[in-house]
Amino acid sequence: MENTQTTARRTIAFVILALAVISVAYLASPGFRAGRQGTPPDLAGGLERDNRMLGEADLERLFPDIVLRAAKGNEKIIALTFDDGPDDVYTPAVLDVLKEKQVRATFFLIGNRVEQYPEVTRRIIEEGHLIGNHTFTHPNTGKPLGEQLRNELERTEKALAAFGVSPSYLFRPPYGALTAPAAVEVANMGYRLALWSIDSLDWRGLSKEEVLNNVIPHIAPGRVILQHSAGGPGEDLSGSVQALPEIIDYLRQQGYTFVTMDQMFPLPVQAEAANCP
Ligand SMILES: [Zn+2]
Repeated sequence: MENTQTTARRTIAFVILALAVISVAYLASPGFRAGRQGTPPDLAGGLERDNRMLGEADLERLFPDIVLRAAKGNEKIIALTFDDGPDDVYTPAVLDVLKEKQVRATFFLIGNRVEQYPEVTRRIIEEGHLIGNHTFTHPNTGKPLGEQLRNELERTEKALAAFGVSPSYLFRPPYGALTAPAAVEVANMGYRLALWSIDSLDWRGLSKEEVLNNVIPHIAPGRVILQHSAGGPGEDLSGSVQALPEIIDYLRQQGYTFVTMDQMFPLPVQAEAANCP
């Protein structure tokens, strides 16, 4: 009995001592002192709010009204999308497949490439594909660009206007990343953020089989597939081009139909009505 009481007393004493140590540590901590002694030094890279790179999932959570990643519902529709074109190697090869299979897709074009490859741009338009804005120079939009972002979008609009088309209301940020202020700004310009729900990861120079493995298991109604129709210098997209006819055939067998992103995500009726004369 005596022993039990002694043990209990020792335990209580230990707990009190531990609490005292934790309290002293907390009072001495940087967080507590900063709160008591005014504003901490500036963050060298700027505020988290202004600088944090937001990926696809974050953007969807923060801006559900302007982010397009997958259609709701069970309708068996799929949107094929191709980034970074045009070029004169892979984009024509992608167009050949789409023509043969009679599929309309959405191309997110880079403005300076539109100017460099007018023939391929014209072919994309003539063959009935939808064009989205993917900036003029493909900067990293995950970092704050200030005025440059608006400029990038407007220069691409201008480059496309020379062909008599506009880049729809679809903006796909390079690397799928954007800062929060930039997301608000492009929304104010009338754009929606056209992201994706299936990433082929073809930009890694994957084989046909690898591209198929990144796409087929993720197929579901309303998904948007991301592939590329051009790369950077030395990038090999031949696996992606080879996978394309098999992706299309598989989807058709499964009963899917192909839509462009503006068909998948029509603007609200009142917005369209406002554009009517
Ligand atoms: Zn890109």
